[in-house]
Amino acid sequence: MRRLAIVMALSTAAGLAQAAGPHVHGQGNLDLAMAGGTLLVELSLPAADVVGFEHAPRNDEQTALLEDALARLGKGTNVLEPAPDAACKVTRESVHSGLSGPEGGTGEHDHGEKSHDPDADHDHDHDHDHDHDHGGHADFEARYRWHCDHPGKLAWIDVPLLEFLNGVTLKVQLVTDQGARADTLKAPDTRLSMDVQ
Ligand SMILES: [Zn+2]
Repeated sequence: MRRLAIVMALSTAAGLAQAAGPHVHGQGNLDLAMAGGTLLVELSLPAADVVGFEHAPRNDEQTALLEDALARLGKGTNVLEPAPDAACKVTRESVHSGLSGPEGGTGEHDHGEKSHDPDADHDHDHDHDHDHDHGGHADFEARYRWHCDHPGKLAWIDVPLLEFLNGVTLKVQLVTDQGARADTLKAPDTRLSMDVQ
């Protein structure tokens, strides 16, 4: 039950964050919940800080920027580097952008399960063209799930993502079996301590 409570706490926190209205440019949210050997991560970034615009791509250059960003954020290992001693591996990773466009805004990869037809994703994106273009703001939202063979050795997690974001501050919420803690990270300070004491 403890584990369920932690997962629910993360979901609630993330839900509140998303419901809080327009984001602040230069500021992203990173929510982490560690329970047993499972690490759940939710990342939210203003599109302006990722690709420099918050509308559907209007030319080939912007389309390429969007595709590059989705490819980068779509891989958990580009975003987080858990301490090697903990032996963590990505088991699920997905990314979505509120920027509708020719190639859509979603990339999802589910390890270990037979995923659905990739063509289905493509159609889905077209169905939702323009649905996310609210008030001139748009976000990138990504979720990752990691499994760690030695969670007790997960002393820290590096966030290499910050090296690719220009001066963005990440507001971090961390929940573990031992407690919870809020933190902020900004390059060159990219290492998050997992100590909540
Ligand atoms: Zn914005």
